[in-house]
Order: sequence, then structure tokens, then C-alpha cells
Amino acid sequence: MKENKFEFQYEVYEDISQLTERDAWLLKEAKTVTDQAYAPYSNFHVGAVAMLENGEVVAGTNQENASYPVGICAERVLLGTVATVHPKVPISSIAISYNSEEVKSDHPIFPCGMCRQALLEYETRLKKPIRLILGGMEGKVYIIKTASLLLPFAFTRNELI
Ligand SMILES: [Zn+2]
Repeated sequence: MKENKFEFQYEVYEDISQLTERDAWLLKEAKTVTDQAYAPYSNFHVGAVAMLENGEVVAGTNQENASYPVGICAERVLLGTVATVHPKVPISSIAISYNSEEVKSDHPIFPCGMCRQALLEYETRLKKPIRLILGGMEGKVYIIKTASLLLPFAFTRNELI
């Protein structure tokens, strides 16, 4: 028997002021777009904004529904929009932020499991890593160099073809 270990590195910043101008701008956009989330049930407003390799910027927000499972996360709204409006253009970075009337937005949040799977497939599909910039309305910011790090031992298209 042999034990293996999985670990990865990520960057931790004390707050948005430590980011590069470009990353800070993208995170601010993600904070701003949380206003467009439709989250009457959770009151948890998420914004995800992508910087594409061609310089275009695309935003997504979570969209809930009275039939709860119909709701969709900001990240997958974003990926679907990018794939439709800018097909074949890789995503360089995605900033994700959130705002809530009930909990403090003072730390980064991570994409849910389903979104991790979707992000991984987008990276695989366009053969480019997607950098994640994660931060709340205030507080620490994490930068992860490729979304696939969040989903080790992933099930991928390679199993099917
Ligand atoms: Zn999600």
C-alpha cells in the first residue's frame, strides 16, 4: 500500500488593494454585478465576471427559481453566455464575488461542485486554464491559477472518447 497526497498552491491577498490593477478591476466588476442576481429565496447574490483572451468582458449572476432546482449559479450562467457570445475564445480569468443580506461578505467563496465540473470542462474544451479571483465585498482575496485544481480526480470527457 502506498499513500498519495494531493495539494495545490494558491495566492492569498489581504484585500483587493494588493491585487494588480487589472485583477482589482475585474473583482470590482464581479462585486457590482451581484446587483443583477435574482436571488429572492437565498438572498445570496453572486457575480462572476470573465476576462476573455480577446479583452472582452462577460458577466453572469445566479438566477433562482420558485422551483429551487431550476436555479442556476452565476458561474454556469457566465460560461453559457461566453460559449454563446464568444465561442472559441478562451477565458483568461474569472472573478467571483457575492453579497448577502444575511451573511457577511468578508471572505472568498468557492464555486460549488457542479460549477467546478463545468469550469473544468471549459478549460479542457478550449485547452486553456481559467484563473480564478475569489473575494467577497471586503477581506481576503484568493487567486487560483487554474480552476481544475478545485476538482481533483475529476470525471472528464477523456473517459468517454
Ligand atoms: Zn455553482
